[in-house]
Amino acid sequence: MPESRALDVVIVGAGFAGMYMLHRTRELGLSAIVFEAGSDVGGTWYWNRYPGARCDIESMEYSYGFDEDLQQEWEWTERYASQPEILRYADHVADRFGLRPHMRFDTRVTSATFDEAATCWTVRTDAGDEVSAQFVIMATGCLSSANMPVIDGAESFAGETYHTGQWPHEGVDFTGKRVGVIGTGSSGVQSIPVIAEQAAELVVFQRTPAYTVPARNGPLDPDERAKIKAEYSTFRATNRQMPAAFGSRLPASDRSALEVDAEERRAEYEYRWQKGLGLAFIGAFNDVLISPESNESAAEFVRSKIRDIVPDPEVARKLTPHQVIGCKRLCLDTGYYETFNRPNVELVDLRDTPIEAITPTGIRTTEGEHELDCIVYATGFDAMTGALLRIDIRGRDGLPLQEAWAAGPRTYLGLGVAGFPNLFTITGPGSPSVLTNMMVSIEQHVNWIADCMDHLRRQGHRTIEASEPAQDLWVEIVNAMAGITLFPTCNSWYLGANVPGKTRVFMPFVGFPMYAEKCTQVAQDGYEGFVLSG
Ligand code: FAD
Ligand code: NAP
Repeated sequence: MPESRALDVVIVGAGFAGMYMLHRTRELGLSAIVFEAGSDVGGTWYWNRYPGARCDIESMEYSYGFDEDLQQEWEWTERYASQPEILRYADHVADRFGLRPHMRFDTRVTSATFDEAATCWTVRTDAGDEVSAQFVIMATGCLSSANMPVIDGAESFAGETYHTGQWPHEGVDFTGKRVGVIGTGSSGVQSIPVIAEQAAELVVFQRTPAYTVPARNGPLDPDERAKIKAEYSTFRATNRQMPAAFGSRLPASDRSALEVDAEERRAEYEYRWQKGLGLAFIGAFNDVLISPESNESAAEFVRSKIRDIVPDPEVARKLTPHQVIGCKRLCLDTGYYETFNRPNVELVDLRDTPIEAITPTGIRTTEGEHELDCIVYATGFDAMTGALLRIDIRGRDGLPLQEAWAAGPRTYLGLGVAGFPNLFTITGPGSPSVLTNMMVSIEQHVNWIADCMDHLRRQGHRTIEASEPAQDLWVEIVNAMAGITLFPTCNSWYLGANVPGKTRVFMPFVGFPMYAEKCTQVAQDGYEGFVLSG
């Protein structure tokens, strides 16, 4: 039965953000519903079931910290949890906190319209629901809107087609098949080695080579796990003080790569490579993401590893990246470069031989046709704004969000948008989100939003809305912070550069602790930069 109720809160999305938001909302005694396009909870981990999918932040950190009992009772088994294990965790959380009765699955929100006279939102779905609510909270995910490139003839392909972010639940058996994978970002890097083991032939279509470091995943040491659990809340608090909200146990550096000689530099990179310190490879020196020279030393180290691992010089050449390392998110892998030594794997460099068309029987590049039974698109997402802009969101005076963001997303703190009262975006553009351990960013945002709604209720305010001047200044600050780094120097999805026609704006805020402090201060100052009314 379609819903037609008046509620306090509508939450869109049942990933980790939507789940925790619902929990906090219910704790406040507010009535709420969650609409979710998928058939169950988990978001990213519900959709991304491709072979090899797992987190690249250690499991002991990539989990909720809001409930001591929850974090004590849940036992992660691997250093980097696999997608099925993370999905089981989401399922457990949904049961443990009684979330599902307040969720509507298989239901996509199509529009949200602000009614100025009634100061409430009307939310409509593709299942015919029409719900009014004082607050709308978008927990729609930064990486939930699949990017399917437009390639001539794609619909004519007679074989099977998959996107890593919309993987069939029953799994895919590639045994005996000729498989083509387009894309070599994190999803490609994780799935390619696993697909190569199963498929008869694998052709990888690479546009930009990836920098990837060995994950060295394995079972979690029970003693190590117990040690963390013995002081879990302190561990979480220390991580929140880290620039990307994770990794407090990993060795940090307060030295420039240029302060030490070449031998010492190499030794430091080698240590991190061998130990499998993951994303902290970039933290070998404090200026790898700031100084082009320092960055080049880290990049060259990975290039030398590719030459060591891949004996065929032509394949090694094609695999070798030349952009700034860390500018596109660094990947963690299990046997990625090694996979290209297999006799059943071929690497096609699209910079040398671009795709001309997809045909009924395969992919045709300028060099000729590759006959395939299956094509896997590991082509990523319309990140950060994609899921929001697919909803017809209209604020004051009927202003569409699409119009307000025509020149790129504009928010105050990544939490609110001027002209869109009582609309919150969890891990929205302009917040650290994708540059951090997302679980920490999600919890920080959910807590801020819950406290804010509580404040409004207690103070008798009906609406809260970002002010234009505060938003303008924040957009400038986000850009200025990015400008200090090397992030804007490549065509990454952080900039929207992976989607043809998307405005190029660096979307996330660099630096979690400073950001979190600012949010706390804003709240303490009576929501400075926001306008409260009613
Ligand atoms: P999501 O999990 O994306 O959930 C959003 C939900 O909203 C989805 O289920 C979607 O169906 C739903 N939705 C969207 N639009 C609508 C609509 N209009 N109507 C109804 N429902 C809608 N982050 C890390 O920090 N560490 C990692 O190791 C890591 N690994 C990742 C691996 C992969 C493969 C991917 C894709 C992302 C990874 N991320 C990682 C980022 C990850 O997205 C976040 O960590 C986190 O899971 C996001 O949770 P969320 O609830 O904000 O969004
Ligand atoms: P991605 O990083 O955007 O990579 C997409 C890949 O597809 C890139 O290699 C891109 O090439 C290529 N591509 C896109 N359009 C193409 C086209 N038209 N023709 C040829 N190639 C094309 O996407 P992703 O790998 O799904 O990862 C997205 C993000 O999700 C990650 O950065 C990470 O934050 C998260 N993630 C994390 C993990 C993990 O390890 N835990 C795993 C998967 C995803 P270009 O680089 O040239 O654009």
